[in-house]
Amino acid sequence: MNPILELKNIHYNYHSALGETPALSDISLTLFKGEFVSIVGPSGCGKSTLLSLIAGLIKTDKGSINFNHADGFVGYMLQHDNLLEWRNIYKNCLLGLEINKKLTKENLEYVDHMLKQYHLEDFKYKKPSELSGGMRQRAALIRTLALKPELLLLDEPFSALDSMTRLTVSEDICKKIRKEGKTTILVTHELAEAISLSDKVYVLSKRPATIKAVFDIHLTKDPDDILGARKAPEFQNYFQKIWEALYGTENL
Ligand code: ADP
Ligand code: MG
Repeated sequence: MNPILELKNIHYNYHSALGETPALSDISLTLFKGEFVSIVGPSGCGKSTLLSLIAGLIKTDKGSINFNHADGFVGYMLQHDNLLEWRNIYKNCLLGLEINKKLTKENLEYVDHMLKQYHLEDFKYKKPSELSGGMRQRAALIRTLALKPELLLLDEPFSALDSMTRLTVSEDICKKIRKEGKTTILVTHELAEAISLSDKVYVLSKRPATIKAVFDIHLTKDPDDILGARKAPEFQNYFQKIWEALYGTENL
């Protein structure tokens, strides 16, 4: 099987008047269709830089990025939902389709389907400010998914939510994404979230980020139990290993 995304020996430096800031150093990563991987690493280590490179927003001349897509493209969702207050939820969800001139009957039906799936159909005609943080984030996700991206990049999408909401919203959203078979890279600083949602967790070092460790995650869990992953017998062991990879053993 061909990988959908292949990064080989990526380096990236920011240039400014004050000099160079190395952000990424020798990053290699392979992603297969339908995989859900998480990236964890210290704040400011280069996680968002890595996603921007994959999305093609910035370029590097050191290393190669191969995105093997049929005709699909990359969906990129950030920490802030960036919903437009002057458009209702439905119009916000249609924004990407509108800009890309893809307001076809099929795509409109897909948006309606997702609004139901994400429990937002009764809020279609509300303004973003009338919704809770979790609902807004779901609306932002529908806007991204409406374009049927081949690859979904999520940059700390749940960090604006309070911790109670975050637990259920992140599990619920990621379950739906997985059900659709979307290939996804999630950047998060919550280790428990990364473990419970992913097939694989990449641990990055301090800036400039290198890949310190990669963990394949296999949890014994009931797929219908939303918090099942956190109760799995293997969970604690992964948590400890990933923590050690991130911070070393001295903080345990
Ligand atoms: P993370 O997402 O892991 O918190 P970023 O990828 O946003 O980290 O940034 C990595 C480092 O690159 C930061 O520590 C910062 O110093 C630097 N950086 C980020 N964006 C810029 C920029 N536009 N210009 C210069 N330096 C930047
Ligand atoms: Mg970031």
